[in-house]
Amino acid sequence: MGNALLEIEGLKTQFHLFAGTVKALDGIDLTLKEREILGLVGESGGGKSVAAYSILRLIDPPGEIASGRVLFEGADLLEKSEAEMRRIRGKDISMIFQDPLTALNPLHTIHDQIDEMLRLHTSLGARERLEKILSLLREVGISNPEDRLRAYPHQFSGGMLQRVVIAIALAARPKLIIADEPTTALDVTVQAQILRLMEGVVKNHGAALILITHDLAVVSGLTERVAVMYCGRIVEEGPTDLVIHSPLHPYTKGLLNSIPRMGKKSGRLPQISGMVPNLLELPDGCAFAARCPDASEKCLRAAPPMRPAGPGRKTACHLHAGGEAER
Ligand code: SF4
Repeated sequence: MGNALLEIEGLKTQFHLFAGTVKALDGIDLTLKEREILGLVGESGGGKSVAAYSILRLIDPPGEIASGRVLFEGADLLEKSEAEMRRIRGKDISMIFQDPLTALNPLHTIHDQIDEMLRLHTSLGARERLEKILSLLREVGISNPEDRLRAYPHQFSGGMLQRVVIAIALAARPKLIIADEPTTALDVTVQAQILRLMEGVVKNHGAALILITHDLAVVSGLTERVAVMYCGRIVEEGPTDLVIHSPLHPYTKGLLNSIPRMGKKSGRLPQISGMVPNLLELPDGCAFAARCPDASEKCLRAAPPMRPAGPGRKTACHLHAGGEAER
């Protein structure tokens, strides 16, 4: 695998509400290599989507990126002008949103929506663009694309629309694609097809992928590395196989326990007890302490920093201080 493509350092994004300040991202660090597929996992409100929007500088007031760096190919995106960011979005970094129907413009044909991306970000002429659109639609599995070019989004099923959105995301050959819950709005029978399609086309195009999902089962087998987020922080990161088969952080263990397993007979699936804390009133200690079966006095006093926990692994838990248990 290649060099670092994206390096996020100490990124903090906050929302200033009447009731107080929400620390939606509370100092995350993350590195993504060229052509790497990374899963970003956690419950709603953990900060996954805010991380994606922060990378693309799409945080609007009352939100703000308070501090940190987002280095893309070594240059800090937080220091770019808005005009430079408009060129980077779609061209170098593209995004696949959760609901394809709302991601597409209902008033424009499929052809026009892909063509717009090509006109904005490439120097191709009209004939070359048409050939490119047809080849992209074939690549994402839309048969007879010549017959579908003039169709509008409402004439496609959800799965076919998400294929179109993937074609748009690939159009300008971006180096990084961020997919935010790309299969959540789809029928379960279509989800696996879309995930496999994304994996294939991303690899074909030599792009890196950040796959955002609330479902650890989705990242299994598809991503090489996974980062687990809770309350605006990354609490565990490592090779996907290791994190899934021997999770370190109690929150990761709780997420994995709540996934149904084929062939395993059980009664009710275990849930992580309690609720995600109010982000306006996060505790001084570990944000997971109120739900954690392993919480100790120390967990209530001090938030655990992210520390190495074995080869290629890190976790933010007092139980794993440099790989050693510490109470
Ligand atoms: Fe649980 Fe303490 Fe680890 Fe937090 S630091 S996850 S409360 S054991």
